[in-house]
Amino acid sequence: MSTLAKSKANDAKIITLGCRLNTFESEVMGRHARKAGLDGAVIVNTCAVTGEAVRRARQSIRRARRENPDAKVIVTGCAAQVDADMFAAMDEVDHVLGNAEKMNARSWSFTKTTPRVQVGDIQSEHKIHAHNIERFGSRARTYIEVQNGCDHRCTFCIIPFGRGPARSVPVDEVVAQVKKIADNGVAEVVLSGVDMTSWGKDLPGTPPLGALVGAILRGVPTLPRLRLSSIDAIMIDDELMALVRDEERLTPYLHLSLQSGDNMILKRMKRRHSREEAIELCAKLKSARPGIAFGADFIAGFPTETETMFENTLKMVEECDLSYLHVFPFSPRTGTPAARMPAVPPAIAKERAGRLRVTGGQALCRHLERHVDTKGDVLVEKQGFGRLADFTPVKLDDTLPVRVGAIIPVKINAHDGEKLIGQII
Ligand code: SF4
Repeated sequence: MSTLAKSKANDAKIITLGCRLNTFESEVMGRHARKAGLDGAVIVNTCAVTGEAVRRARQSIRRARRENPDAKVIVTGCAAQVDADMFAAMDEVDHVLGNAEKMNARSWSFTKTTPRVQVGDIQSEHKIHAHNIERFGSRARTYIEVQNGCDHRCTFCIIPFGRGPARSVPVDEVVAQVKKIADNGVAEVVLSGVDMTSWGKDLPGTPPLGALVGAILRGVPTLPRLRLSSIDAIMIDDELMALVRDEERLTPYLHLSLQSGDNMILKRMKRRHSREEAIELCAKLKSARPGIAFGADFIAGFPTETETMFENTLKMVEECDLSYLHVFPFSPRTGTPAARMPAVPPAIAKERAGRLRVTGGQALCRHLERHVDTKGDVLVEKQGFGRLADFTPVKLDDTLPVRVGAIIPVKINAHDGEKLIGQII
């Protein structure tokens, strides 16, 4: 996914690829670029999660240069961090900034003596702080960074080499940041990071993620909705489990990083959970908060995956009662252990991903069916569209003017297999 952000006519254009954390960081970089007077510059904030993501980054850079022949083109993000020389070798590129450098305002004052490549050792980054934004433009929800980096080494993943060690924004800074955003009238804040459930491990007293969520909900009673971005299934702490059960404002949706439904594959991925633990956790969350919905990431065709192993992943969709699947056919990332494992033919990986998406579509229909003839509150994201607290998309009658960012009562009359059809009441 790529987004093009530009708030004022001659502001720098920011092309954001990849995850929500990149979206948040692009917002902060936009401010640094504006303060540095980089009018008309083009910033490409890259992703390195798959070979395809890097290909898209190069494609976006070439297009940016074609469409802006005189602009300064600046490349940042995980792909730039992991392979700075490759981007520096592109004629289209003026500057390459690493993931730590991009968040530092000083990196954006380019002079004749500024080195073309400013990419430091991300593994030596151990501290992060809040960046104090008020909101993202007119968006109904705002993502904020509470955690960055990762200390795990899943065998398919390049992210730790782009993002560095796990590090957490201190709780009081997060609460102050969320308060500022809520005071600005934003109805929903999404806590974002790379490995969210490791939040606090590097802070005094090693508080769990549940302590942060609890502090935000107590510290910002005016915030209608608090959402968690993707989390590592098994690492949910007791405090967080209790908040999921008791706190209406903590939205009943969790995106779980499951990756596979087969124990041997999970072992070869170096994941920290078994299929049984994931199923048990989903059942526990459903009994704690009956209306909760789950999304999940899956890789199809991981090296050595047999048809029987893949069927364990297909079965997992119903066993965990998942509603939304993000499915990726395995693509080897140079430099990761999985890239050296005996591969499943790409055509089979693609075919399995196709079957898993079909299973996901059926699961989504089951989820949508449950909402028909019910009432719920929708956060309006744009005219005629919004989402329930469990993240279900709802199409609204777009002739009725509603304020983006408002939470409105809606009666659900039907669904079209992808979203609900709602009537404002
Ligand atoms: S937990 Fe695993 S998949 Fe997630 S960022 Fe860390 S190494 Fe990558």
